[in-house]
This record gives sequence, structure tokens and C-alpha cells, in this order.
Amino acid sequence: MRTEADIVVIGAGIMGLAIAYHLASLGVAKVSVVDRSYLCGGASGRNGGGVRAQWSSEANVRLMQESIRICRDFASEMKINVWFRQGGYLFIVRTEEKRRALEASVKVQNACKLSTRMLTPKEAQEIVPELDTDGIVAASYNGDDGVVFPWPFVWGFAQAAQKRGVEIHTFTDVKGFEMERGEITGVVLDAVGKRGTKGVMKTRKVVNAAGAWSPEIAKMLGVELPNKPHRHEICSTEPLKPWLRPLVADLSDGLYFSQSTRGEIVGGIGQEHVPPGVNHDSSHAFLGRYARSLTRACPLLGRVKVLRQWSGCYDLTPDANPIVGPVDLVPNFFQASGFMGHGFMMAPIMGKKIAEQIVTGKDTELMSRWNLRRFKEGKLLSEAMIIG
Ligand SMILES: Cc1cc2nc3c(=O)[nH]c(=O)nc-3n(C[C@H](O)[C@H](O)[C@H](O)COP(=O)(O)OP(=O)(O)OC[C@H]3O[C@@H](n4cnc5c(N)ncnc54)[C@H](O)[C@@H]3O)c2cc1C
Repeated sequence: MRTEADIVVIGAGIMGLAIAYHLASLGVAKVSVVDRSYLCGGASGRNGGGVRAQWSSEANVRLMQESIRICRDFASEMKINVWFRQGGYLFIVRTEEKRRALEASVKVQNACKLSTRMLTPKEAQEIVPELDTDGIVAASYNGDDGVVFPWPFVWGFAQAAQKRGVEIHTFTDVKGFEMERGEITGVVLDAVGKRGTKGVMKTRKVVNAAGAWSPEIAKMLGVELPNKPHRHEICSTEPLKPWLRPLVADLSDGLYFSQSTRGEIVGGIGQEHVPPGVNHDSSHAFLGRYARSLTRACPLLGRVKVLRQWSGCYDLTPDANPIVGPVDLVPNFFQASGFMGHGFMMAPIMGKKIAEQIVTGKDTELMSRWNLRRFKEGKLLSEAMIIG
């Protein structure tokens, strides 16, 4: 294990690993990734694996078009099966106001040459015959959207990064930084249990890809981040015969559910009044709310049994857009967090873009728009198609 790195990436979730992989691919010789947990210990191992290009902002639509292309080729390039199945996303809405917003988003998507269609409730039912159309006002559908199995996606990036010389230190907690004249010179590490790495990793460049914990890391350098962790719960049922092709998402209450390749119905729902803070507990309140909404959409599912329930953290920003790129206050400290409930699907493309910016030092229009400084400058952004 090296004690000196060209770049240290904090967080071995999908974002940190994708960045590390691309840094190494761009020729950075010594990249070290550190994580206080195991691979998949954070949100990257706890999510629903949904991947879609149906968004309201052109930037997100275009990014996700590229990301879906990467997902399609991932298995053959990384030599790992990620069970990517493109059954589409079916969004449903229950009010006229939401229908208008959905139509506006579909217009943006069509302008980006995405084949998304607005559907009547009856047309939505042709895609999911078990859907109860009562109360549904309209829907949108895109057959290119899909779902991956998150764990092999994480492992695939980890293995590919290691093959390119990246060192991954799991069970290694970042405790602080060594600084000289306002610049980072090392990352102070502590081993969690017997397997981690302890000591100082000398480096001059650090990427904060610690997801929900990224504000804690930034605080060690005197940087205040506006993103906050909020628990998001999810569950999976006993396996059923395959019957559900798309992931169904209800934009009125944040319900989403899809059927895994093993037949389980995997889904979650947004909850109101979730206090900020890292919390991985599971609640009865979630199960009740999810069950009510799920059986409203698909009454047939009232008879299915939930087998497993878990939770993770959404990494929420005030304007529903991520925080990426250099931090003005600390030279060579780069942000890669605030990816809300959609960082998994964005990592394949954002990992590449963030690595390119670090290596070339060049700002792009997207990267400057998503920089931390937008909060100081009052240039907040928006995104309407948020689930959960
Ligand atoms: C229930 C749920 C469902 C979701 N569904 C979807 C979905 O369908 N599609 C989608 O795209 N996204 C989804 N998301 C969001 C997605 O999972 C995240 O946006 C994404 O995984 C974030 O990846 P990350 O690498 O930034 O963070 P993480 O995977 O959380 O990784 C951060 C890592 O930093 C490490 N760390 C923290 N502090 C320290 C420290 N001091 N020292 C060292 N390491 C540290 C942690 O251990 C962790 O492994 C969902 C999230 C949840 C919780």
C-alpha cells in the first residue's frame, strides 16, 4: 500500500470509484480511494438501480442519454453482468398541474431526440395492464430507461479501477487533513477494525465523494456545504412471475416500483418531514405509506409479502442539483456530491466529466453551473422530475 498519492478520492461509492477509474484512465498514476466502510456500504449499495433519461432540464436529459449508453456497454467493457434491463420508465400523474409539468418535461426530452411519449391513462394501462387508472390524469413513457443491479455496477468500477493501478482502502476513515500555507498536503487516516489503513496519505489533491457524509469531510477543511442527508426507505417483496416491464413512478407522491430479474417488486416512496441526518433505520410508517400508494396504483399487489426492508440516505441539495468541481476556498479540493436520489445513474457519465476537469483544469458550462459557488452567487437551479 502506498503512503503517497497524486489524488486521494474520499468515498468508494459509485461516484468515487467512477472518478478514480477515469482519473487512472486519463493517466493519473497514483490514485487512492479511501472509505470507512465496505464497498456498497453507502447509498450506492442501498438504492433501487433506476436509470432514466426522463428529466425536466436539458442538462440532465443529455447527461443521462450518455449515461444510458455507458450502462448498455458496461457489462462487455467491464466484464461483469450488471443485469441492465431496459423495460422503460412509466411516470404517472394525478393532477392537471402535474400533467402540464410532465408535458413540459416531455417537450424538453423530445427536443433532445428522446422518444418519450405522453400517454392517456388507458394507454398507460396497455403497458402495465394491472395498473388501476382511477385518479390517473396522464402518463409518460420512454422504453430506453431501465434498471441495473447496483452491487455489480460498484464492483465493476472497483475492479476496473484496480486494474488501472488505483488502490482502494476500505475500512479506512478520514479523520482530518494536513495543511501547509492553506494547501492540502496529506489526508489523516484511521483504520476501522483490523482491516483498514492508518496514518497519513501524502497528497496535494483530494476529491470529496463521500455522498451523504460529504459535508462532514468539507467541514474538516472549513468549507460549509449546503447538502444534507435525509433517510430514504425502500423494500423488496417475495419473488413473483415476471409481469412488470417498466419501473412505474407516481410523481404525485414519489412512489416508484419495478420488478427485479429475480421477480421481486423493489420500490419506495417519498416521506414527508424526514429530519436531516444520517439514519439507516427502517420504519413502520414507511411500510404503511408505501403499501397504501402501491395498492392504489396496482391493487393486485395487496396480496404480495414484503420480505426485506432497508434504507439509505439521499444527499439533498437546496436546488435539487449536485455540487461538483473545485472549491474556491481550498485549492485542489474537489466536490462530487449532492446527487440527491439519482447519483447512481449519473455516476457513469459524471465520473468521467469530474475526472476530466481535475486533469485538464478546464471548466465546462455544466461544471461551472453545478459548482458550489452558485449558492453564494444566488444562481440556484431547478429540476422538476424528482422521485421520492
Ligand atoms: C433507498 C435509495 C434508493 C435510491 N434509488 C436510486 C435510483 O433508483 N437511481 C439512482 O440513480 N440513484 C438512487 N439513489 C441515490 C444513489 O444511491 C446515490 O445518489 C449514489 O449512490 C451516491 O453515490 P456516492 O458514491 O456519491 O455516495 P455513497 O455510495 O453513499 O458513498 C459515499 C461513501 O463515503 C464513505 N465515507 C463517508 N464518510 C467517510 C469518511 N470520513 N472517511 C472515509 N469514507 C467515508 C461512506 O462509507 C460511503 O461508502 C437511491 C438512494 C437510496 C438511499
